[in-house]
Amino acid sequence: MRLVLASCCAPCSSGAIKQLADGEIAGVDDFIVLFYNPNIFPNDEYTKRMNEQIRYCNTLGVKYAVGDWDHDAWRNAVRGLESEPERGARCDACFAYRFAYARDFAIKNGYNAVASVFGVSKHKDQSQVDAAARRALGEIEYIPIRWDESLRQSINRASNFYRQNYCGCEFSFRKTPQMALVGINSCEMGSGEL
Ligand code: SF4
Repeated sequence: MRLVLASCCAPCSSGAIKQLADGEIAGVDDFIVLFYNPNIFPNDEYTKRMNEQIRYCNTLGVKYAVGDWDHDAWRNAVRGLESEPERGARCDACFAYRFAYARDFAIKNGYNAVASVFGVSKHKDQSQVDAAARRALGEIEYIPIRWDESLRQSINRASNFYRQNYCGCEFSFRKTPQMALVGINSCEMGSGEL
């Protein structure tokens, strides 16, 4: 199997990438980390998360690819869903949008399967992520791997990763000055580790 790992950030993907790099996932012959997250806003935040992802991949010597930050196109994909809470319909559309890109990336580059870390955060609903992946991936196989959470937490405790305190889009801001600037309401998010 040649696998694309769709990743949102270094803290969520640390354990998964380590497991893949160590050959712990049966059937995976080759893999690449795909960082395609046009949902992340603003661009400075996107750049921080992207740089941390690249730094971690380089530390482990694994391949990675970075997609475009087409935030305006992403906004079109979630139009009308801006007021949805996290884990609601906006997130369905957001996951599907990013999985569709992973599907096209896989087809174009000779990969035949996709997995993700989109559901590992305690703020996420893994079953929602799985459903969006199955809808969006089409001919590309979805591998719903349940990653080793204790490994992920242990790597993160030992790391100096940049850690964000909101999911990614402007509609998921917690109560920060950014929120006031954009003039939107926060969806409900807890605090603590991702
Ligand atoms: S809260 Fe997160 S998953 Fe949901 S739409 Fe925003 S960035 Fe996407």
